Amino acid sequence: MNDAATATNLKAPKGASNSEGEPSPAPAPSNGHALYEEALANLQRAQQYAKIDPEALERLKYPTALIEVSIPVRMDNGKLRIFKGYRVRHSDTRGPAKGGIRFHPNVTLDEVKALAFWMTCKCAVVNIPFGGGKGGVEVNPKELSPMELERLSRGYIQAVADFIGPNVDIPAPDVYTNATIMGWMMDEYSKITRQRTPAVITGKPLPLGGSLGRDEATGRGGFYCIEELQRREAWDSSKTTVAIQGFGNAGQHCAALLHGSGYRVVAVSDSSGGIFDAAGLNIPRTIEHKRRTGHLPSEGVKRIDNEELLALEVDLLLPAALENQINRTNAANVRAKVVLELANGPLTDDADTLLFDKGVLVVPDILANAGGVTVSYFEWVQNREGYQWELTRVRERLQAVMSREFNAVYDFAKTHEIDMRTAAYVQALNRIGEAIAAHGTYHYFADQ
Ligand code: GLU
Repeated sequence: MNDAATATNLKAPKGASNSEGEPSPAPAPSNGHALYEEALANLQRAQQYAKIDPEALERLKYPTALIEVSIPVRMDNGKLRIFKGYRVRHSDTRGPAKGGIRFHPNVTLDEVKALAFWMTCKCAVVNIPFGGGKGGVEVNPKELSPMELERLSRGYIQAVADFIGPNVDIPAPDVYTNATIMGWMMDEYSKITRQRTPAVITGKPLPLGGSLGRDEATGRGGFYCIEELQRREAWDSSKTTVAIQGFGNAGQHCAALLHGSGYRVVAVSDSSGGIFDAAGLNIPRTIEHKRRTGHLPSEGVKRIDNEELLALEVDLLLPAALENQINRTNAANVRAKVVLELANGPLTDDADTLLFDKGVLVVPDILANAGGVTVSYFEWVQNREGYQWELTRVRERLQAVMSREFNAVYDFAKTHEIDMRTAAYVQALNRIGEAIAAHGTYHYFADQ
């Protein structure tokens, strides 16, 4: 399986972003629990430290609304194919629901619910005024021609148009979707509503109201977390080694920034395997090669597989692919000192506990990859203002958000001697709890 950025039929025009993550080869084993149930376990752990009413917490266990749709698409050969799609609005307590749309053959409703739940928590962790949502279509986009892909993207919007909106639920790119697709979707929504509506979707191409810096935002947000870690833990970047699993949009941008600040990125992988060089890979050349050929370069490097990459003795391991990549079967092999989750849900619950017991510092997804949705928020603001920000402004504001929230989570974890994931959930729950309380209690009949 190749990645979205380079799949022949998913090539984005110049200036357009590719997917946020890079899928991995095989479906990874989880511990048998449904992903959504497993995701909710974090609420339980964080509850004891959070100021949230038990009823408000109970509310978060149930998505606000969800739809399953069928999308008929006329294929190039004249035949009709029906695709299954979903949109889940997990919560809109803190603002309109926000979150990407994933095109992947293994998409399920359970997965989309978990991803929507993480979006609710992610937006609260970085304190942007959104709830959480997510969408998905069960499709392997690499099997579609560009025209089929466009028809499917427009068909998805036709099916969910009543469910989304700039003040209701705002999609964005996710795994295997990109700026081009967001452009088609915005265009379709605008046609349906007969109003130009750029703020209905983020991660758009620049000429259609996209934001400068959205393309790089997930990787850059992760990089700002690493910069803060470096400051707090007094690392020397030239002595810090990094391995990155997943070389899609987020992995590539983060790798380039780390390389540019002197970190030694010794290994990267994509869905067809990885490459390793103890002296440090030439990241700009690796990105260029991948962009041109669709594959990682093999000259002057050692080929390794994804499992070997995850087990490398490095300072920093960045899973930047799909969920459940580090699980009960391979967590014991992880030898990194720090794991920063650029993907959503790359560690199972078991793996999380195992790594914590081993003393590995895990910077959780809902903080580490929140740069993407933060700049999505900036894009939405720009669309509503009708005014485009300069790149320096986008980057400065992203850095301010990431460093402020990273340090708050880091300090809370240190003070209470807990892991950063629980601390991030506490921060999210406090903010969500406050918003639920502010909406009113609905205790019309209770005498309290
Ligand atoms: N798909 C990205 C995420 O998981 C971005 C979502 C957005 O920008 O709304 O965070």
